[in-house]
Amino acid sequence: MAENTKNLNFNTLTIHGGQQPDAAYGSVMPPIYQTSTYAQTAPGEHKGYEYSRSGNPTRHALENSIAAIEGGNFGLAFGSGLAAIDCVIKTLKPGDEVISTNDLYGGTYRLFTKIFEQYGIVFHFVPMGDAAEVAARVNANTRLIWVETPTNPMMNVVDIEAMAKIAKENTALLVVDNTFATPYLQRPLEQGADIVMHSATKYLGGHSDVVLGLLAVKDEALAEKLYFIQNSSGAVCGPMDAFLVLRGIKTLHVRMQRHCENGRAIAHFLVGHDKVDKVYWPGFETHPNHEVAKRQMKDFGGMISFTVKSGTLPDTIKVVSELKVFTLAESLGGVESLAGHPASMTHASIPKEEREKTGVVDALIRLSVGIEDEADLIRDLDQALASI
Ligand SMILES: *Cc1c(COP(=O)(O)O)cnc(C)c1O
Repeated sequence: MAENTKNLNFNTLTIHGGQQPDAAYGSVMPPIYQTSTYAQTAPGEHKGYEYSRSGNPTRHALENSIAAIEGGNFGLAFGSGLAAIDCVIKTLKPGDEVISTNDLYGGTYRLFTKIFEQYGIVFHFVPMGDAAEVAARVNANTRLIWVETPTNPMMNVVDIEAMAKIAKENTALLVVDNTFATPYLQRPLEQGADIVMHSATKYLGGHSDVVLGLLAVKDEALAEKLYFIQNSSGAVCGPMDAFLVLRGIKTLHVRMQRHCENGRAIAHFLVGHDKVDKVYWPGFETHPNHEVAKRQMKDFGGMISFTVKSGTLPDTIKVVSELKVFTLAESLGGVESLAGHPASMTHASIPKEEREKTGVVDALIRLSVGIEDEADLIRDLDQALASI
């Protein structure tokens, strides 16, 4: 990242972190360098860019931004969150083992079990609420500990520092999928993680208009290893998408503040509602990992899951179908509020038995609370629940 932005606070880094006015005309926003290649004055003589898979100035601006806001030194941008995860797992060899959260994002679970298991990489899915349980699964082949926190959709919170300690003691790397929290709420590299991963499709982009993945790291040798894979496998993002995420990041802190405020109001509304059974939100003192959440997060975010009290599939489908301000859709983290039914949508690829063990029952609804007016969101939920 640019030296002159290192001492800035988070709310300034989102706007200026790692950014320089463009060298050509001083444009404040990085131009969208929609080009595959770059003119050379003599063979091998160029201005730092040869071919856009290997490097592109707009992508670099975004890579510098994610490094800055995550407190890292290097960033890498990919065509999707899953492409970023794919890059991390490709640092492993057959026989290497990964310990991962058991209530993992469905797409990550599918990539691990349906693609990488074929290549001899071994995955263990364990509940990470108890650090001792994770430590017990470590062996000589453990190379990575893969953490998602808060988890999707059960909103479990994993103690990043405790996981970092286990990783360090066993010369494994700790990777944190920071998609749900964003660096506004928690910065895993500062808590001992080696790699932070993002689906920037969600809060970082923030406007539901782009699919993109990011990694941030501190260590140069690790960054080089990841860059080698990024360039060799080629799952980079295009410059237009990099531009959109950069633009999104500039308002991240303001959006997150409102996501948190609205999330808090809705969590409290739901917990008192007679058609609602359980409400999963780490801000409640009764949440099993509330103390850890309070310690490692600045606030509790805009993601909430809850179950419909009757517990039936038809009632649950009715509630999500009756919503009018919330849109029934996959994904999360945009300015607009979304509702999802994990069992039939995001987590449909996980066998029913597996998903129910982690709490993803038919009656579960997941909300991505947007930044609309709080009263409108509450009224919408109230009328949808009244329909059953
Ligand atoms: C969406 C998501 C991903 C995958 O990212 P894509 O951009 O959809 O490829 C990974 N982890 C979490 C927590 C997600 O929400």
